[in-house]
Amino acid sequence: MTWTPTAEDDRRFLSLAIEQARKSWDEGGVPIGAVLVHDGKVLAAGHNQRVQKDSAILHGETDTIEKAGRLRASVYRESVLYTTLSPCIMCAGTALLYEIPRIVIGENRAFEMSEALLRERGVAVDVLDDPECIELMERMIAERPEIWSEDIGVETAELGARTDAPGAADEGQGR
Ligand SMILES: [Zn+2]
Repeated sequence: MTWTPTAEDDRRFLSLAIEQARKSWDEGGVPIGAVLVHDGKVLAAGHNQRVQKDSAILHGETDTIEKAGRLRASVYRESVLYTTLSPCIMCAGTALLYEIPRIVIGENRAFEMSEALLRERGVAVDVLDDPECIELMERMIAERPEIWSEDIGVETAELGARTDAPGAADEGQGR
């Protein structure tokens, strides 16, 4: 890859993903957004479409990769995926299929499912622990837990048990 993103680039592209997340929340949807960047240029920006398109598979990351359309293998292999929340196994799988080499994550406190797998497969995973991303997830889980539980395939009652876990983990082994 000729382009090496700086920390400032990472903040800038994450803020575009956050814009997408906010847009989704304003539409009544799940506030998770993403952007796919190649050589310093945004190829596509997207957000979770569960509510908006009644979609079970368009998460922030998959919506973005879908919107980017057909790309050459070599383009994926030089791209960076920015996402406001740590990817689920489906989105991580999509990134692995196309060999996207780096994923920049806004936060992983509300949810973390795939980072070990991604790293094991050679993907560079950077978690920025961004307060805006954390706040977006906290607000959804507090105000609209039903759309979140639906999105990750659990019942809302099970979510209660789960959301206790990250706090406990923070005090213990961390990530
Ligand atoms: Zn996902």
